[in-house]
Amino acid sequence: AVRVRFAPSPTGPLHIGGVRTALFNYLFAKKHNGVFYLRIEDTDQNRFVPGAEQYIFEALDWLGIAPSETVGKNEKFGPYRQSERKDLYKQYADQLINSGWAYYAFDTSEALDFHRKQHEEQGKTFIYNWHNREKLDTSLVISAAETEKRIASGEAYVVRFKTPVDQTLHLHDIIRGDISFETNLLDDKVLFKSDGMPTYHLANIVDDHLMETSHVIRGEEWLPSMPLHSLLYKAFGWEAPEFAHLPLILKPIGNGKLSKRDGDKLGFPVFPLEWKSEEGVSSGYRENGFFPEAVINFLALLGWNDGTDQELFSLEELVEKFDLNRVHKAGAKFDPDKNKWFNHQYLQKQSDESLAELFKKDLLNRSTSTALSVTDVKLIRIVSLIKERANFVSEFWELSNFFFEAPTSYDEKAAKNWKEDTPRTMQELISVLENISDFTSATIETDVKDWMTQNEIGMGKVMQPFRLSLVGALKGPHLFDIVELIGKEETIKRLQTAIS
Ligand code: GLU
Repeated sequence: AVRVRFAPSPTGPLHIGGVRTALFNYLFAKKHNGVFYLRIEDTDQNRFVPGAEQYIFEALDWLGIAPSETVGKNEKFGPYRQSERKDLYKQYADQLINSGWAYYAFDTSEALDFHRKQHEEQGKTFIYNWHNREKLDTSLVISAAETEKRIASGEAYVVRFKTPVDQTLHLHDIIRGDISFETNLLDDKVLFKSDGMPTYHLANIVDDHLMETSHVIRGEEWLPSMPLHSLLYKAFGWEAPEFAHLPLILKPIGNGKLSKRDGDKLGFPVFPLEWKSEEGVSSGYRENGFFPEAVINFLALLGWNDGTDQELFSLEELVEKFDLNRVHKAGAKFDPDKNKWFNHQYLQKQSDESLAELFKKDLLNRSTSTALSVTDVKLIRIVSLIKERANFVSEFWELSNFFFEAPTSYDEKAAKNWKEDTPRTMQELISVLENISDFTSATIETDVKDWMTQNEIGMGKVMQPFRLSLVGALKGPHLFDIVELIGKEETIKRLQTAIS
């Protein structure tokens, strides 16, 4: 059975890359009728950040990809927070020591610094591995009795993995295919510390095993850990899950991994939700007016496609079409403009009623009392006229303010269309409008155009000054829709103001 996990460390706000990892796990689980669970990897207490865990849950909830098992929810293999599983890991470290797959090491940080410096002087990098084992202060060198004595006396130690020497590991990754690793190039990673805490590597493997993980789907930055992890499964005599390492998410411009700074620089969020800390506020997709469906959609296409040109996918469609074998190896460029395009598409899909409701909230924040006095019916109508020009609800006001308030100034360039005889033409137009009793867009349009034809008045002479008088600029939706919505009285008032 498919059981996959998202295993974030709560060291800060969840980056968009982490969300993509969660999403791909979610899609893979749902596609195979499996389980998507979330485990909090908080064994590194130094990096713990308050609020980060809550942030992760809130972000996944908002996006609609919440795990089905996690802290406080269907804790079938609980606890799902590693710090609460603390007592479990020592026996596994012991097991590896007893079977010869791990050893105690007592090197102080000063001693390690010394080795590092000595290597540097010879132009080499110090690697804690087979190369240097006889020089290091470990149970591989000292006697068992001595080792026991030093541990009993309370000396600080770590447990390190004893990487086998001279082996080539032939491993398989679903996305990358066959990969081989030379064990001689690996270092003997710390698995456990005398403060009683396991490191990421030990806890991750033990928990993936105990929680019956079938596939490990994670970011490419964990690829270098794959040989150690596969050796750990071997050392424990456990069957390893399958691995799939997802491609990096790259900067929009230039090379390298997308970072928080790229977002700040180019003015787009790289976090799902806003995050406030002493360092300041990092903006979030939610607070920037993105629809969660749009975020899901563009994230899904960061490293995956279904083999066609289709770009718009609902979550259900993604579940149906997702295939790990179609995930690319190459890094995926992050394109903030494309993200906006996706939001534009999803905005068009919303009902005018729900957009009007969002717009109303936005108006409340702007405390524009005239706008708020508008009826819901009218607001819905306004939204329907302007939404195709908007990527975000926050742009509605700029696109529609003339519906609520008369222009206070006229666009200078557009005002060039205001000619000497324009006031007279507008005065005539007012008379035409005054006589229209069925004040709806279509009727107004017919009557105004009839008057123009009968009097041989050119389009440009009327339409542009008319629009300018109502809107203040030559922008906005279909003119007669604007006229209808503003109403007869207000339309005439604005024309009179323009003339005077
Ligand atoms: N705790 C690791 C992280 O923060 C998990 C890596 C993995 O999925 O194995 O990403």
